[in-house]
Amino acid sequence: MKVLVLNCGSSSIKYQLFDMTQNIVMAQGVLERIGINGSHLTHIPNGDSATKVEITGEVPDHRVGIQMVVDALLDDKHGVIADMDEINAVGHRIVHGAERFSDSFIINDEIMKTLHECSELAPLHNPANITGVEACSELMPDIPQVAVFDTAFHQSVPEEAYIYGLPYRYYEKYGIRRYGFHGTSHKYVAQRCALLMGQPENGLKIVTCHLGNGCSITAVKNGKSVDTSLGFGTIAGPIMGTRCGDIDPAIIPFLMDKEELNPHELNNILYKESGLLGISGVGSDMRDVEKAAEGGNKRAQLALKVFAYMNRKFIGAYAAAMGGIDAIVFTAGIGENGISIREMICQGLEFLGAELDLEKNQVRGQEVEISRDGAATKIFVIPTNEELMIAQDTLKLVQAL
Ligand code: ADP
Repeated sequence: MKVLVLNCGSSSIKYQLFDMTQNIVMAQGVLERIGINGSHLTHIPNGDSATKVEITGEVPDHRVGIQMVVDALLDDKHGVIADMDEINAVGHRIVHGAERFSDSFIINDEIMKTLHECSELAPLHNPANITGVEACSELMPDIPQVAVFDTAFHQSVPEEAYIYGLPYRYYEKYGIRRYGFHGTSHKYVAQRCALLMGQPENGLKIVTCHLGNGCSITAVKNGKSVDTSLGFGTIAGPIMGTRCGDIDPAIIPFLMDKEELNPHELNNILYKESGLLGISGVGSDMRDVEKAAEGGNKRAQLALKVFAYMNRKFIGAYAAAMGGIDAIVFTAGIGENGISIREMICQGLEFLGAELDLEKNQVRGQEVEISRDGAATKIFVIPTNEELMIAQDTLKLVQAL
């Protein structure tokens, strides 16, 4: 059984072809600059980056893009399959499923209609995801496709955690509520955490910290998301690379007034000029900020302190939300690799039974426990694998057809 996983962005397509029978990634890659001059595909067959190939060509739209990906998979030299029919199913990452999708689904006409309706809530992401589905329907009409949503895992969040303190009519009229994102990643690492602890998810209280360019923290109780730091948009929670995280909403009209900003301009400041970049003035990449901080840059040091403090605060809040905590998981670029930032976040969490082992914490990108032996609350680094989770959901649904 072979499953092609696609993550279609507005100008890029990331892909992985899984052989689910042998549990291996047969090929992976990314096609960038769709619809822009200089489109190029980086294709890695057999998980070996030494055999990486770069393919250039004109890629005006996603249909041509997916054709290029399929051609790379079929190629005589760097291909990994002999016939397109070998692909048994396609799994798509879809960013927003609103309140309509609390699980993954086989895509049919009705689902497509609902996907279009959800686009209003994610105008930058869903249309590109949908274009990818439509391109596949055209190129491989007989192959089943599955939609796996970033928001689905958080549909179990109870209403007291998803309703904002706004007039209720805005929830009814526009669907303004907490949705949460990175759900596939949180679900994956929580499952892995339970496996590593040798316990069923039912009974465990886990805080999962997905810290990449975008960051979110989730409270996972009995295998279900019960609260999460991202909300209606992808900006709330701890500060991120360029996003402001939680701020006092009073700042918004104040700034619009003082700086004569329209909503679009303000949005740009909150999403693209804030966070690590905004505070440090150095950059949005954690490595750059850490380097500047080590060199004595005070604002870079402050950005790190704010980042760590906000993360620590959410871990504490979610321990309270769940009535306890059994494990903390760090994942995504910063969570998997940021040795010193993990140390900063965990400082002062000993009262929750979470004691970091400084020696064990010297790891990057490995699935490993980093808490002191015998600590009541375990701390783990678990590399995320959203693609594998999408492939597993796809396989499950297609096998049940
Ligand atoms: P995205 O959200 O775009 O998928 P990633 O999960 O790849 O992002 O995470 C990107 C972040 O990970 C960047 O801030 C980067 O600096 C950080 N990162 C990568 N390697 C390291 C490292 N060795 N130490 C600290 N941060 C790192």
